[in-house]
Amino acid sequence: DVVVLRLGHRPGRDERMTTHVGLTARALGADRLVLEEAAAGRKETVTDITDRFGGPFEVEVTDRPLSRVRSWEGSIAHLTMYGQPIQDVEAEVRAAHREEPLLVVVGAEKVPFEIYERADFNVGVTNQPHSEIAALAVFLDRLFEGRELERDWQDAEKRVVPQETGKRVIDTDDE
Ligand code: SAM
Repeated sequence: DVVVLRLGHRPGRDERMTTHVGLTARALGADRLVLEEAAAGRKETVTDITDRFGGPFEVEVTDRPLSRVRSWEGSIAHLTMYGQPIQDVEAEVRAAHREEPLLVVVGAEKVPFEIYERADFNVGVTNQPHSEIAALAVFLDRLFEGRELERDWQDAEKRVVPQETGKRVIDTDDE
């Protein structure tokens, strides 16, 4: 299992970012998203997409995000520009993920130092400041080595039929 924890959410400012963390986690192969109470309003948007375009993908809200980290039974990868280059640690992260569930922590603003200490891997997707969405996308793609792009979706109402030009979406009932 791969669970993405979105740590820190500033109401107003982070709404779209948090939604996109969730959509990216889902699209690129994570199993579950954990949101803080402050971000609870984002749950529905991600769940709606899962209802329409398929899953499985779970969204959960917690009022104690740090205790989720403390009590996590498995490995923890914390994405941070200060971490070890992903290309240096990705094989080790994949090996850990083969053995046990993986919690992937992404921040919004400053992440408590406790997370750096508790993480098995502090991972930098470059050591440049950028975005948690971009960092998560690259991380998941390296974790799954591209296999997430081939995934099948279950219980979808709609499916996009890829087109060279234009848009085609079909109801899966009609298939
Ligand atoms: N300045 C904040 C700090 O000191 O932690 C980081 C804010 S950054 C906009 C929000 C999140 O994006 C970070 O918590 C981290 O998860 C992610 N992030 C940003 N740049 C990253 C990078 N180069 N590699 C991995 N994650 C990154």
